[in-house]
Amino acid sequence: MLGSLSRWLRMMGHDVEYSTAFDDAKLLALAKEEGRVLLTRDLELYQRSTARGIDAFYVEGKNEADRLAAIAGRFGIGLEIDLKSSRCPRCNTMIQPVPKAQIVDKVEKKTFAHYNEFWECPKCGKVYWQGAHWPKIRSTLEEASTRLKNSASV
Ligand SMILES: [Zn+2]
Repeated sequence: MLGSLSRWLRMMGHDVEYSTAFDDAKLLALAKEEGRVLLTRDLELYQRSTARGIDAFYVEGKNEADRLAAIAGRFGIGLEIDLKSSRCPRCNTMIQPVPKAQIVDKVEKKTFAHYNEFWECPKCGKVYWQGAHWPKIRSTLEEASTRLKNSASV
């Protein structure tokens, strides 16, 4: 249910496991074994987690900015993305800067011509750059920061 949120958190540099293939029992076991915080929108699963002493967070909010603000408030994380410490949104591996010449065959010509800084995931090979979607990413993070500030002052 929180696939998009996991991608955000990975871009923000956090180690996030996510799979729609895991059932509740598997999720609880994983969280316990690996000492992870369980993020869920399933109230019953949240209650089962806390009953077993697993740190869990019940994610509310009607959009991404709301949810990010709530998580940032609870865990004290920064609402920013620095690609130097980002993880691959797709597979959770730390991405690495890659010389432009190495990705010439991996992105569209227009993209290659337009941008100079690229990052690549050493595991799944996906290439990242601060493209046309970047202003939208920034504005979502700004919106989340504003929400967080407003909620803190209440
Ligand atoms: Zn990857």
